[in-house]
Amino acid sequence: MKEFILCKYGEIILKGANRATFEAQLVKELRFRLSFCGNFSVTRSQSVIYIEPLDGDADIDAADEAVSRVFGIIAYNRAAQAESCTVEGICKTAAEYLPEKLAGARTFKVESKRADKSFPLGSIELSREVGGAILSACPKLRVDVHSPDVTVRAEVREGAAFVHAGQKKGAGGMPVGSSDRAMLLLSGGIDSPVAGYMMAKRGVRLEAVHFESFPYTSERAREKVLELASLMTKYTGGINVHVVSLTHIQEELAKHCNEDYFTLLLRRYMMTIADRIAKENGCGALITGESLGQVASQTMSALGVTDAAATMPVFRPCIGMDKAEIVKIAEHIGTFETSIQPYEDCCTVFTPRHPRTKPELSKVLAEEQKLDFEALVAEAIAGATVERIKYRPN
Ligand code: ATP
Ligand code: MG
Repeated sequence: MKEFILCKYGEIILKGANRATFEAQLVKELRFRLSFCGNFSVTRSQSVIYIEPLDGDADIDAADEAVSRVFGIIAYNRAAQAESCTVEGICKTAAEYLPEKLAGARTFKVESKRADKSFPLGSIELSREVGGAILSACPKLRVDVHSPDVTVRAEVREGAAFVHAGQKKGAGGMPVGSSDRAMLLLSGGIDSPVAGYMMAKRGVRLEAVHFESFPYTSERAREKVLELASLMTKYTGGINVHVVSLTHIQEELAKHCNEDYFTLLLRRYMMTIADRIAKENGCGALITGESLGQVASQTMSALGVTDAAATMPVFRPCIGMDKAEIVKIAEHIGTFETSIQPYEDCCTVFTPRHPRTKPELSKVLAEEQKLDFEALVAEAIAGATVERIKYRPN
């Protein structure tokens, strides 16, 4: 008996003429990720993707875990291919394969689907036959069609039939690479990895920029950020992290500008630098982890001042979320524990005692003009380095 993984996709089904492109992108992404789990074939038929182990080295548990993190899949299940595409074959496989999956359940029901309409039995009759086979194999189980502990499914498709129990929730969203590329401003905090995850879920391929301020920020702080990027790749695929030093800019700000505006001025430098590196790398938007009102630089007017420094759209998927909601996602994606390690960030050195929460753009620009903005931006970009963080299978 051979175990497959059957994947169902969600929103892609709603795509009209472009649907084939989205499907191809999803299959491509699955093939890449499964290449780390052994030899599998990935094929698509009638809105289902079939993942089939091709030899004894194919690790189906590892494949299951990889599939759970692929955006574009709404649900998936482990399924046994019936010995033959006949009523007897389906019942025999159900009786062999399902008892283990039904351990712990007291009640079940069977639902059948016939994509192959030439199959001799109707869905209701087939469900009844499969139910009988399961009851013979597990005499303690009872059928409950209203609220069963487990729903068993028998699916008859063109040339093959499958039985399975217990559908798992997929990662949802759209396959990474089906939208354009965007530049994530990645700090060592909780919010920005979550923001990156949320945009990758909409199909965006991520590039990232991290700002540091050595020696005010340490080597360890940078390593923490690269570790966060590495953890994110389980969902997003590989990420190039551009590391930019803000040390000179921050020292100049401290020397020449009004302290109340430090954070805002710094954030405008960050946006401008990110925007230019984004353009050079084919990105169409910036992404930040900002959440309205979280800190002084995230009031509506402060965000207006920083937005004015960018030429491309700025996506802030956490903008309407509470910290507790962001933390929940960070825990789910596995970045939280790393994010809370206490290392300094360039935004937390040289912080003003009285930051402006209702800044006027004209006053911020007047402060900005005290420095040679263009020269400092160019110098920072010229000194940037790139860390290529590869997809991490586990
Ligand atoms: P947290 O709020 O959980 O401490 P954070 O990453 O959201 O972490 P904030 O100070 O709220 O930190 O920064 C707001 C946003 O600005 C971040 O989400 C991130 O997108 C960007 N940002 C802050 N510091 C950096 C940095 N050193 N490098 C790159 N982007 C940064
Ligand atoms: Mg934050």
